[in-house]
Amino acid sequence: MVQVILDDVSKSFGAFKALTDVSVRIAERQFVALIGPSGCGKSTLLRTIAGLDDISGGRIHIGDTVVNDLPPRLRDVAMVFQSYALYPHMNVEANLTYALRVQRRPKTERRRAAEEVAVVLGLEQLLDRFPRELSGGQRQRVAMGRAIIRQPKVFLFDEPLSNLDAELRVRMRAEIRALHDRLKATSIYVTHDQVEAMTMADHIVVLKAGRVEQQGHPLDLYDRPANRFVAGFIGSPSMNFLPGFIGEDGQSVALDGMDVQFPLPGRAEPGLPVDVGIRPEHLTITDSTGSNVLPIQTSLVEATGAQMIVHGRTARGDIVTVVVNGRTPLFHGDRFGLKVRALDATPGAPPALHVFDSKDGRAVAR
Ligand code: ATP
Repeated sequence: MVQVILDDVSKSFGAFKALTDVSVRIAERQFVALIGPSGCGKSTLLRTIAGLDDISGGRIHIGDTVVNDLPPRLRDVAMVFQSYALYPHMNVEANLTYALRVQRRPKTERRRAAEEVAVVLGLEQLLDRFPRELSGGQRQRVAMGRAIIRQPKVFLFDEPLSNLDAELRVRMRAEIRALHDRLKATSIYVTHDQVEAMTMADHIVVLKAGRVEQQGHPLDLYDRPANRFVAGFIGSPSMNFLPGFIGEDGQSVALDGMDVQFPLPGRAEPGLPVDVGIRPEHLTITDSTGSNVLPIQTSLVEATGAQMIVHGRTARGDIVTVVVNGRTPLFHGDRFGLKVRALDATPGAPPALHVFDSKDGRAVAR
């Protein structure tokens, strides 16, 4: 398996810039997720790596080769699509071995390869079936099998699980990750589902409007988002944002219209208008009032079983979401207070909050 390096990759469709200066280093055997909202350029980036779209600028390296001018078949990559793209008139074995037939490999070799891949993917009993006789999960496995059988250097996945129901999606994401580890593959995986990216990837690249907003280990992005966009995109339920401003000392932050002030881990420009980001799981409900307690009125309580998700409003009307482990007796209209948890268990640890410049969204005082 090989590393993949994207150097300042750009892609324009006419006057529209779909990708601008995207640089990513993907190490050998790494599992990288490309995430971002609809239209941010995830699939376009994957297609440029596959060679299905030309790039307008920059360089793509696969292993030691610059592949900018190589056609897809010479790049040694295999792509798995959301639509599975199986041939409906061919049975599973013929679908699996299609690429080997095109390469005119002997029938016995094709049969052996199909059997080996079928064992890896649990498809042994299904080799004679046609795609219409398979479940969604089985079709997805055949699509992966078709990629595996070619023994590519790099696997490219374009939202492969989107057509599956929630339970199967969770199972299949574990299967794909296990397969990646077993094949010692280098994988690039496009998804708009940040939970999928967090649970599967070693490295996440967050894209917005064709540019990289931040990249890194999933938990780094969760713990230290570089800007408000990444902070809001990573984590479920999403981070709360409340307007505030940096205190006179440059080392504290106050919330607008509330008697709430928190110390900061770093320094920022005194008086700077900011958005204070607090994750729903970093808030705790309290009966007490007083300083640094956020007064809230409940607007909605959702029970997921293991957790309750409480939505409420501040006196200013800002919406705040809290995750409560276990149960809570709160109902619509109830009033309660919120406290922000400390970042860790050390005495005097600062509160677990994030502060973003309200003009450009950059993280400050980190
Ligand atoms: P989604 O999650 O909705 O699939 P995406 O992040 O994969 O979105 P892309 O499919 O990469 O987004 O598209 C990025 C942008 O490029 C979009 O604005 C899209 O309309 C535009 N685009 C993609 N392909 C073409 C094309 N062939 N011609 C013109 N514009 C295109």
